[in-house]
Amino acid sequence: MITQQTRIPYLPPRIEGLASIALNLWWSWSREARALFQSIDVALWHRTRHNPLELLCRVDPARIAACASDSDFLQRYDDVMQRMEHEADHGDTWFARNYPDLNGRPVAYFCAEFGLHNSVPIYSGGLGVLAGDHCKAASDLGVPMVGVGLFYRKGYFDQRLTPEGWQEDSDEEYDVSSTPLVPVSGPQRQPWLTTVETSGRPVHVRAWQMMVGRVPIYLLDTNLEANHPDDRGLMNKLYAGGPELRIRQEWILGVGGVRVLRAMGVDPGVWHANEGHAAFMMIERLRELVASGSSYEEAVHQVRAQSIFTTHTPVAAGHDAFPADQLEACTGPVWEEMGIDRQTLLGLGAHPALPGQFHMTVVAMRLSARVNGVSRRHGQVTRNLWRDLWPNRPWEAVPVTHVTNGVHLATWMASPIMALLDEHLGPDWGERLEEAAFWDRVLTLDHAKLWEAHIKQKRALANFIREDARRRFARQLKEASQVVGAGTLLDPLAFTIGFARRFATYKRANLIFREIDRLRRLLVDPWRPVQIIFAGKAHPADNPGKEVLQSVYQFTRDPEFEGRVAFLEDYDMHLAHLLVQGVDLWLNLPRVPLEASGTSGMKAGLNGVPQLSTLDGWWQEGYDGLSGWAISPAGEGADADAADAEDFYRLLEEQVVPLYYTRNASGVPLGWVEKMRHALRLAGSRFTARRMMREYVQEYYAPAIGGEASGDDPPTA
Ligand SMILES: *Cc1c(COP(=O)(O)O)cnc(C)c1O
Repeated sequence: MITQQTRIPYLPPRIEGLASIALNLWWSWSREARALFQSIDVALWHRTRHNPLELLCRVDPARIAACASDSDFLQRYDDVMQRMEHEADHGDTWFARNYPDLNGRPVAYFCAEFGLHNSVPIYSGGLGVLAGDHCKAASDLGVPMVGVGLFYRKGYFDQRLTPEGWQEDSDEEYDVSSTPLVPVSGPQRQPWLTTVETSGRPVHVRAWQMMVGRVPIYLLDTNLEANHPDDRGLMNKLYAGGPELRIRQEWILGVGGVRVLRAMGVDPGVWHANEGHAAFMMIERLRELVASGSSYEEAVHQVRAQSIFTTHTPVAAGHDAFPADQLEACTGPVWEEMGIDRQTLLGLGAHPALPGQFHMTVVAMRLSARVNGVSRRHGQVTRNLWRDLWPNRPWEAVPVTHVTNGVHLATWMASPIMALLDEHLGPDWGERLEEAAFWDRVLTLDHAKLWEAHIKQKRALANFIREDARRRFARQLKEASQVVGAGTLLDPLAFTIGFARRFATYKRANLIFREIDRLRRLLVDPWRPVQIIFAGKAHPADNPGKEVLQSVYQFTRDPEFEGRVAFLEDYDMHLAHLLVQGVDLWLNLPRVPLEASGTSGMKAGLNGVPQLSTLDGWWQEGYDGLSGWAISPAGEGADADAADAEDFYRLLEEQVVPLYYTRNASGVPLGWVEKMRHALRLAGSRFTARRMMREYVQEYYAPAIGGEASGDDPPTA
């Protein structure tokens, strides 16, 4: 039972559908719906960081009344309503046309975080945003999918920096009524849908539904009066607290997730664990099968055949492993219900090099017939990393494949670029994204027009930075130099580099500061100035990451850099949009080979923003010499940091900056725009979530639903 309860005040009947538009995140990737909300009150739209529910709650009633009798507004409203209704129709989609026999049973997609929009702060970074883009692409293509995640009442933390640049993490509850989350209650109107036994007592679990176009996502929540006080706060925060809390969150996600789907009558044909956090979902399905009469061996066979596991990082901290007694304390003797002994259960998560640990990635690998990494390079790295589990195979033959990540075009491409494509390619270009040759046509985009669209985005970023700094200056900043650090001295016309992502140490945000004098000469050149904008959060428990952040922050306040280095606080999807759309060059410096894929550079590419990166993750397969620059791999035994920094300076000095400042008589940098056209073609033709989703369907989902054997053996060690 789904009960809509928002605090949207009265809407005139003629436009009351605005509420239903605001309650489906589909609006966030519909240009027309976004423009409609923006036209209600531009200033409020920006102030709410593009949150239509808040906008509708706070807008002046007189303004809403005026909209209801404005013929231009009504025409656009009717158009958006019609588009949304069309979206609700599942009949004529790519999936329905290509897989008419498979249209019954959905794909259950489990993930510990989802990044759909900044108004729903239940994501921390790339993994969540990727999961969000995955669901949006499933909706666009009509792939029957149901998402399962956790409802974090306090979300991920808000970032504030002290004047010394130390990150402080606040944890305020956000206002659920400003999100499109709708509670789902049980059949007898009880507020929960199921219970899960953990730490020796039952925990009631409820769900919130979030609609993402055609795809519902159910977010599990234990904050119910019926629960023990300790259990009510289980889902307070994402990736916070120690391993005892973490394992219990994951247990609820896996076991509770399966049971919530059952309670709602959803019968998935495929189960996709996006990262090892969700692996308990496989344990619960084993338990179910054994309880309904299967032998344990049959149950393993069936669970494997229907499971897909995607691993997202070669960095050890990204893989959870729990001591055996911690597992037992959380789950109780669950093996008894699975028809096995304790040792067999522990064996599912055993890695030969980590005795006594229950390893979530290992469980997922054992219980999924189809396992993949997220770029070609990461596929190789993953086969090598987990080769001990298949001691009888050479590492190259470890049964792990890859699907390279992609990003959701309609979410990440700026409207002026889309308008340009409408004009140049014809209004149906959105339907022809798969035709690679079609994208060649962006190579003939008019230089001046593409440049003009880019400059518009660059100006939008500059405006945002100034207004955000003004707001922080009034409320929070303690020292005037912090206002400089927030980017107020940036020059709206100077060459601008963007670097924004989580501050994990392997991402090396501080690499460019290795030779300070050389960097300063580049930045403060009076004829060809260069500026750099940083943003990103360090994990609250990652002190080395916070130290890197602090060392970068110091330079924002150093007069020697003349205000040309900025750090924008509180990186979220809203800021991510403005940055990937509004800087001139996207910079990525991961230590090879630790970046599994990386996606922010793809988002930049969709906006014609070229990338400069080490040859890792997606760039290792995407770099073509035309659409950006690559830092070549350091030689065997060389100091990779020194070599990569040297390459960075050299590329900037000799190629990047001169190309940017070489202008024609009308001020357009023709050579630079050439790079922009290629960046757009590369991202559009090969790195969209649409391409990614089609691969998942063709190579994984459809064969698994159809019961095709994968032919791959489980780990033997
Ligand atoms: C895309 C995105 C990321 C991932 O960035 P990478 O450079 O791939 O690490 C992280 N955070 C947010 C908010 C994003 O939008």
